[in-house]
Amino acid sequence: MNFYVMTLFPEMIDQGLNNSIMGRAIDKGLIQLDAVNIRDYSNDLRHKKVDDYTYGGGAGMLMQAQPIYDCYKAIEKKIEESHSDKKKPRVVYVTPQGRVFNQQMARDFAKEEDLVFLCGHYEGVDERVLEEIVTDYVSIGDYVLTGGELPAMVMIDCISRLVKGVLNNDVSSETESFNDGLLEYPQYSRPEEWMGRKVPPILLSGNHKKVDEWRLEKAIERTKERRPDMYEEWIKLHPVKPPKKRRRKHHADENGDKNGNN
Ligand code: SAM
Repeated sequence: MNFYVMTLFPEMIDQGLNNSIMGRAIDKGLIQLDAVNIRDYSNDLRHKKVDDYTYGGGAGMLMQAQPIYDCYKAIEKKIEESHSDKKKPRVVYVTPQGRVFNQQMARDFAKEEDLVFLCGHYEGVDERVLEEIVTDYVSIGDYVLTGGELPAMVMIDCISRLVKGVLNNDVSSETESFNDGLLEYPQYSRPEEWMGRKVPPILLSGNHKKVDEWRLEKAIERTKERRPDMYEEWIKLHPVKPPKKRRRKHHADENGDKNGNN
């Protein structure tokens, strides 16, 4: 999968994502990361200016349309040259004004071959270039950061984990929180006892069926306690079956006769 990030701080993206699992995925060629400096596309050759005051007044500077548009066109050309289908990539503007990112959105983005991110800074970005190039407005939460680099990194990290081969064990993303509408169950490693706290015996039993049942039970419990909103959604799809009613035999001595006499 190919990620292109339009940013004023490409070194932030390179440094932030070239480590650990992501770093290995990049080395193996499973992920391609291209942090492109918007400043390189400024028409102001002397000062490489990319921002200006906002019309109508107000504090702070706004990122101008032209350098972002030219930066995008260069990325689009690169993508078009690398594929025969000429499909335009999705362009994600990371913004507090977008839909809040979640695992389902990550799964959807992970289907793309190319994804372009636009990171704003200062007061944000001139609306006209957003109208021209952006396909998705996505936020990482209801708070305001200084720039879009961290949100872009959060999303790229999350999407990359869903790309085949990135995690050593692809099954691990299938059992994790949010995959089936539940949080993940608690987990334990060596030693069997730490600070007087023991690993639940069922996990040492070797009985996989019982372990699975225990894990599901704990996942449900944990979701109900920590994320009641998620639990409500989950329980609608997985209604708890009422215990089977046992057929009651008529015992005259227990129940009395038809008239209720004991
Ligand atoms: N003036 C903008 C507003 O009120 O919506 C906020 C601009 S913010 C200071 C600068 C940039 O940081 C934004 O253009 C965006 O790219 C990024 N940003 C800030 N908070 C974000 C969030 N919660 N999610 C995604 N991006 C965010």
